[in-house]
Amino acid sequence: MNIILLGPPGAGKGTQASKLVEERGMVQLSTGDMLRAAVKAGTPVGLKAKAVMDAGQLVSDEIVSDLIGDKLDEMGPDKGAIFDGYPRTAAQAESLDAILSARGRTLDHVIELDVDEDALVERITGRFTCAKCGEGYHDTFKQPKTEGVCDVCGGTEFKRRPDDNAETVRTRMAEYRAKTAPILPIYEARGLVKRVDGMADMGEVAASIAAILDA
Ligand SMILES: [Zn+2]
Repeated sequence: MNIILLGPPGAGKGTQASKLVEERGMVQLSTGDMLRAAVKAGTPVGLKAKAVMDAGQLVSDEIVSDLIGDKLDEMGPDKGAIFDGYPRTAAQAESLDAILSARGRTLDHVIELDVDEDALVERITGRFTCAKCGEGYHDTFKQPKTEGVCDVCGGTEFKRRPDDNAETVRTRMAEYRAKTAPILPIYEARGLVKRVDGMADMGEVAASIAAILDA
């Protein structure tokens, strides 16, 4: 089973990917992480990538394809792949098909965690944590039982992450739409795109994803 997992920041994509890794033994192929790891390990592809990056240039599709191919070979044929952050362009989507078919694999699903932008803004901007123990709270969904006092440790100071603001969320959402716009129609035409309600609670989202994979 090989899938592409898509979702804007804040939709819980990382959580769902971790669940698939834990529960199904799938491997998450995040190209950014893989690139950093290959450079650090000094693999042939990593050395090539480092030379390009040191020269201030963007890593080519060919290098990324090699990285993914190496990773799939290393995983062996029995483990499923979760592609994260790749492909981003029509050319990369085509490369991915070639990389997979060279290894007897196919792309089974493109799962998109669908979010309502306004609800996502509310979800993210409402978050705050106890400055002392780190317990998480939310303006709408989880206020401390006594206003201004942490339920867990009695602390009275709370903090919010500076990037948890509406403008940042909307900018990230727009970036996400721009990044996925080139590839969604390709996979939609092939009937591979399945949408899951990313605003549902984590367990429900996981169950919806499981239902797609087990269908
Ligand atoms: Zn606390």
